[in-house]
Amino acid sequence: MKSIQMVDLRSQYERIKPEIDLAIQGVIENSAFINGPEVKAFAKELAEYTGAEFVIPCGNGTDALQIAMMALDFKPGQEVIVPAFTYVAAVEMISLLGLKPKFVDVTPDTFEMNPSELEKAIGPNVVGIIPVHLYGQCSNMEFILDVANRNNLKVIEDTAQAIGAVYSFSNGKKAQAGTMGHVGTTSFFPSKNLGCYGDGGAMFTNDPDLAERLNRIANHGQKKKYHHESIGVNSRLDTLQAAILRVKLKELDRYCAARNQVADRYDQAFKNHTSIKIPKRASNSTHVFHQYTVQIEGADRDALKSYLQEKGIPTMIYYPIPVPKQQAYLRYGYQTGDFPVSESLCEKVLSFPIHTEMDPAQQDFIIDSILSYF
Ligand SMILES: *Cc1c(COP(=O)(O)O)cnc(C)c1O
Repeated sequence: MKSIQMVDLRSQYERIKPEIDLAIQGVIENSAFINGPEVKAFAKELAEYTGAEFVIPCGNGTDALQIAMMALDFKPGQEVIVPAFTYVAAVEMISLLGLKPKFVDVTPDTFEMNPSELEKAIGPNVVGIIPVHLYGQCSNMEFILDVANRNNLKVIEDTAQAIGAVYSFSNGKKAQAGTMGHVGTTSFFPSKNLGCYGDGGAMFTNDPDLAERLNRIANHGQKKKYHHESIGVNSRLDTLQAAILRVKLKELDRYCAARNQVADRYDQAFKNHTSIKIPKRASNSTHVFHQYTVQIEGADRDALKSYLQEKGIPTMIYYPIPVPKQQAYLRYGYQTGDFPVSESLCEKVLSFPIHTEMDPAQQDFIIDSILSYF
């Protein structure tokens, strides 16, 4: 049996090697390393895939969040609502821009912002909401968009973990993650569901004016070379990465299906287990299982993690500390007890290996090993 990894990028590459090698070779032959034709072609193909009107590639998913907030003209001192239990990127960019994060506790089953807490967080200085589609399924966008509309707030969807997930509105309308808010942001970090071979990111919008601003800000604030209309940043998707992503985008549906197959087997194995709480599927979103994250209840999570590690099975804790309690963000003055659900999740969550190349024998070994611990 091959050794077990959280993500097996090497085996994934083996399956598409001829096409990837050809794509990389093509870029080198062409030598248009920055803003080559593949970047535009990829943006167009990703727009077709997601249904977004505009896709603006950039350097990574964190830049995408920064550029989105700059394009929406958020001003220092204003507040942006974010979940307390999440990856740090959105909060980091909020702080860097002189904005203030307003944290909201999450739900204990789908890990999204708790709706009533979200409403309570609205205040005169709040200008935006950043829902994070954690682990691969959409937050309750219908509710979030409604709250945003009623309060004249902008919504930036952090879709780094959920590209390809489909949300269903109550009127039957469907939309992909990242295409429902004012701006959606995503990451092509290698281990993401649509990953390149280095750093990469993109922004989605349906608004032509915003698309122009996002493009301009990502490119030094210039529309015309050496004419800088606004302060910008330098954030580009390499041509090489775009060429790789064009190949991998064609595989994305297969990747999502493979991840769901792994998730279904874990669900079957653990659904009646007294100490393992399997992830709840949201009723209004498909799941692309960037992570398969359970909660360990009434047992020692960290001991289980070490036990599995000794058997050669990696697991991860996404995330061990709520963002408001990270040292860098203590300055905002939140206290222990402010986010009870987030705090408890940090003690309970454990993510099992899930990726596109998991072979059933590997997964049997993982499942048997987990069950043997209890
Ligand atoms: C990975 C990730 C990011 C950041 O993406 P980078 O490309 O690494 O900058 C942002 N938000 C979430 C939720 C992520 O998982």
